[in-house]
Amino acid sequence: MSISASGDAPCVFCAIVAGTAPASVVYSDEDVLAFLDLEQTNPGHVLVIPRAHYARLRELPQEVAARLFPVAQRIAAALYRSGLRCEGTNIFVADGEAAGQDVFHLHVHILPRFMGDPFEDVVGAHAEPPPVTPAREELDELARTVRVALA
Ligand SMILES: [Zn+2]
Repeated sequence: MSISASGDAPCVFCAIVAGTAPASVVYSDEDVLAFLDLEQTNPGHVLVIPRAHYARLRELPQEVAARLFPVAQRIAAALYRSGLRCEGTNIFVADGEAAGQDVFHLHVHILPRFMGDPFEDVVGAHAEPPPVTPAREELDELARTVRVALA
């Protein structure tokens, strides 16, 4: 098990990759996994991660980085088709604690946006009101909705 930047806690995203922690998966291939963020800043908020553990953007090999964005692009396109409310998307990496990185396994956020949504800031940690954490059944249903649109 890889460890987080703090050096003592197991990495929850590695646990998801290993299948030992639950996730509502929307996409999976040999190098990349995508699943619903537990904090649904807006419904359909997806995270795209490399299966291998890299804490920070600077550690990510360019060939792995090159695998992430096409997946993010496809999922963003799927969100527009999904029926979820999505008039725009923010796609971003929070690199480092000062940038709002909360899990130190590099991840790309895909955040559906719409005019008048309650979030003025693209980083959930600074959003007002705070992001909600839906029940797993609701996350699984959202994931199914995105997977259908992705197919
Ligand atoms: Zn990890």
